[in-house]
Amino acid sequence: MVSLGSMREVTVVGGGMAGLSAALRLAEAGAAVTLREGSGRLGGKLRTEHGLEAGAENFLMRDPGGGPSAAVLLCELLGLADDIVHPTGLPAGLLIKGGLKPLPRGTFLGIPGPETDLEGVAALGGSDVDTGQPVVGADDVSVGEVVRARMGDDVVDKLVDPLLGGVYAGRADGLSLEATMPGLFKLLQTEHTLAEAVRRGVRPSTGEPVFGTVVGGLSRLIEAATTRLADLGAQIHLLEPVRALPDGPVVLAVPGAKAARLLDGHPPLEYASVALVTMELPPVELPELSGFLVPESEDLSIKAATFFSRKWPHVKDTMVRLSLGRAGDPVVLQAPDDVLVELARRDLSKVVGALPAPLAARVDRWGGGLPQYEPGHVRRVAQFRASLRDRPIALAGAAYDGVGIPACVKSGWQAADLLLERWMA
Ligand SMILES: Cc1cc2nc3c(=O)[nH]c(=O)nc-3n(C[C@H](O)[C@H](O)[C@H](O)COP(=O)(O)OP(=O)(O)OC[C@H]3O[C@@H](n4cnc5c(N)ncnc54)[C@H](O)[C@@H]3O)c2cc1C
Repeated sequence: MVSLGSMREVTVVGGGMAGLSAALRLAEAGAAVTLREGSGRLGGKLRTEHGLEAGAENFLMRDPGGGPSAAVLLCELLGLADDIVHPTGLPAGLLIKGGLKPLPRGTFLGIPGPETDLEGVAALGGSDVDTGQPVVGADDVSVGEVVRARMGDDVVDKLVDPLLGGVYAGRADGLSLEATMPGLFKLLQTEHTLAEAVRRGVRPSTGEPVFGTVVGGLSRLIEAATTRLADLGAQIHLLEPVRALPDGPVVLAVPGAKAARLLDGHPPLEYASVALVTMELPPVELPELSGFLVPESEDLSIKAATFFSRKWPHVKDTMVRLSLGRAGDPVVLQAPDDVLVELARRDLSKVVGALPAPLAARVDRWGGGLPQYEPGHVRRVAQFRASLRDRPIALAGAAYDGVGIPACVKSGWQAADLLLERWMA
């Protein structure tokens, strides 16, 4: 880590995971940090209320390049490593023709590998033959384009879309392969079939937990980061939306549309909205699954269900969370809360059987919550960053480098390092 001989001032705009991570790195290096957050609270898409997540739920434990993920490293830095808890390990389900099937194993975000059993789930189609050429060239393509051609529409519609939809609320046909599956994109530039690339890309299970969260909720991560920042003398200002680029070194860690208002030439970025309905049910027997995903063809409004009380050992009551909203389809999200709750309960009853009225329910809306990386995203971001080379501005967060919490933490750290090395040394 770079450390500064003399105090240097730096502004961080946006107090989500990326902005907080950048601020911590800068403050640890001795910079005088001012963090300006537009809303009345820190955390952005991370928010725990009454012990339940209103937004992001868990983080990946491993970095795609190996070793612990940046989220785990952040927990260690903040003294929360011993408080990381893991899901029970129950499998997730997939709704096919109204019935729940186990989510096929050995896929790369839904793309089947050689060991994947698709029986009763999806019919393999397309043509994945070796033509003597790598599957893709240097240019980015959509996930849908490659998988439809190589493995058929059914695999995309029944498997890849629901899995990608769970992460991005988007569809495979509109999402960049390079940005959403960078490891697979790289393999496909040398491999001659998609199946072989997936075989090489799927990491064999080590039995180690894939996901983790902090007991008590992800807001503890935000609180610990805030305390540490205050200890390091950082100034934190809430309810201070930044409307003009501040002077001096700055980390911009805000959603794409907000950054575009501050910086000319910012690449356009679409966002998808999601709504989450969380319900506490009277004790009922839910399927032995952590939850399930719903392909669009099933004709339900919910696109996923999480059985919190099955998925997490520390959740005792019968809590379920239903997610609604797909890219380009905001209509369902405009309904009032009580309508969304009823819609979600009715959809869930169609899958698991009649359900009693919930004891309590809550709706959390994330308008424009998830960026939709269209093909070419990585190149557009790299070009825009290059155009900023002569200015003390670093971009961080889900608008650029990946939507997951670890990716946002890493992006914040990299933005801080760039300023420290190039502008504040
Ligand atoms: C419903 C939902 C569920 C998710 N689940 C998971 C999950 O389980 N696991 C996972 O890894 N990821 C998940 N994600 C993704 C992940 O949470 C986000 O991508 C990540 O938290 C984004 O962090 P960020 O710092 O880039 O942006 P944000 O969290 O969006 O933070 C940006 C901050 O900037 C502020 N801001 C905006 N404009 C201005 C301005 N002009 N001036 C000052 N401040 C401004 C905002 O108020 C906000 O606080 C989920 C996302 C959503 C929406």
